[in-house]
Amino acid sequence: MSIPFIDLQAQRLRLGGRIEAAVQAAVEGGAWVMGPQVREFETALAVFGRAKHALGCANGTDALALPLMAWGIGRGDAVFVPSFTFAATAEIVPWFDAEPVFVDVDPDTYNMDPEALERAIAAIKAEGRLTPRVVIAVDLFGQPADYPAIKAVCDRHGLKLISDSAQGFGCTLGGDHPLKWADITTTSFFPAKPLGCYGDGGAVLTDDDELAQLIDSIRVHGKAVAVDLKDRTFDHDPKYLNMRIGLNSRLDTIQAAVLIEKLKVFGEEIEMRNRVAARYNEALRPHVAKVPDVPQGNVSNWAQYTIEHDDRDALAAHLKAQGVPTAVYYPIPLHLQPAYEGFPRGDGGLPVTERIKDRVISLPMHADLDEATQDRIVAAVASFAG
Ligand SMILES: *Cc1c(COP(=O)(O)O)cnc(C)c1O
Repeated sequence: MSIPFIDLQAQRLRLGGRIEAAVQAAVEGGAWVMGPQVREFETALAVFGRAKHALGCANGTDALALPLMAWGIGRGDAVFVPSFTFAATAEIVPWFDAEPVFVDVDPDTYNMDPEALERAIAAIKAEGRLTPRVVIAVDLFGQPADYPAIKAVCDRHGLKLISDSAQGFGCTLGGDHPLKWADITTTSFFPAKPLGCYGDGGAVLTDDDELAQLIDSIRVHGKAVAVDLKDRTFDHDPKYLNMRIGLNSRLDTIQAAVLIEKLKVFGEEIEMRNRVAARYNEALRPHVAKVPDVPQGNVSNWAQYTIEHDDRDALAAHLKAQGVPTAVYYPIPLHLQPAYEGFPRGDGGLPVTERIKDRVISLPMHADLDEATQDRIVAAVASFAG
């Protein structure tokens, strides 16, 4: 019997028909775009994320692009991003003719290293070609980035801070969400993410009233919003008064209906994932080079359970032969990808990123991973002679 890497059908069955009923109600309701479930989900998401505003959008990539558009990021601007992340984190920067600057990560959390960030900003300023504008910190594999330190760097240099929580949504530092430090948190509801829907979806969360309004405008083709109608009247649907260049980035009603049900159990699922991770850590520590390390006081949502091994590829082959799927996130960091190798890198290069890319391997992880299956996975790792 082969083991799933992520078992979303087990989650669906655990929810006992609630998702199917919600989808059916959304289909029958007929408001398939921007239906009432979208507003209901946004309200619940804002409560969960302790944000003043939550706005749905089409996917986690658009969620990153929306604040860049609202802030007018463009040619000559630098946006600091980790290289050890999914392509979307950097991809949206050249959309607007700005340049991503790749920053190294911390060897324990795999998240942006605040000192490497400081060095990268200093080098970009010294060179004088680009203007530092934004930092995008990623909560990789579900662990929060070091927001207190990163925010201090941003404040010193007057930079905006985005938390790309596509993987990490729900993670906390000392009980606080990344939004306590970031100007905006973005997330993805791609099915495999910890809070996933049944297709594509995304959202932004922010406490900034004006930013929320601008993003609400931009996600609907730059429609007029309250800030725009302060000093002007328009007697028609404000959708048909276009104040800025926007795009079409909406969360579907059906996906919002799925997410309303999934969000209700999300907090509990983060606890379930933490129990799975603690059990993995305990059992695997003697057998691998490194088990994940979450700093005291932080909570990961365990989007991935990622270990390090000196002979990573042989371990992957050994596990595959025993019916245990694994994945490598990420085999080629962005600064070494053909599409991105021309963009600037932080001063001193990215030695940590270039070392860990050959060592990391992710094991099956989801809230419904039962102990018997987990024991099989652990036994398979332990049986690898390496
Ligand atoms: C998945 C992901 C995204 C993009 O989300 P999509 O919904 O697939 O567009 C952005 N950043 C990170 C770190 C991700 O893992």
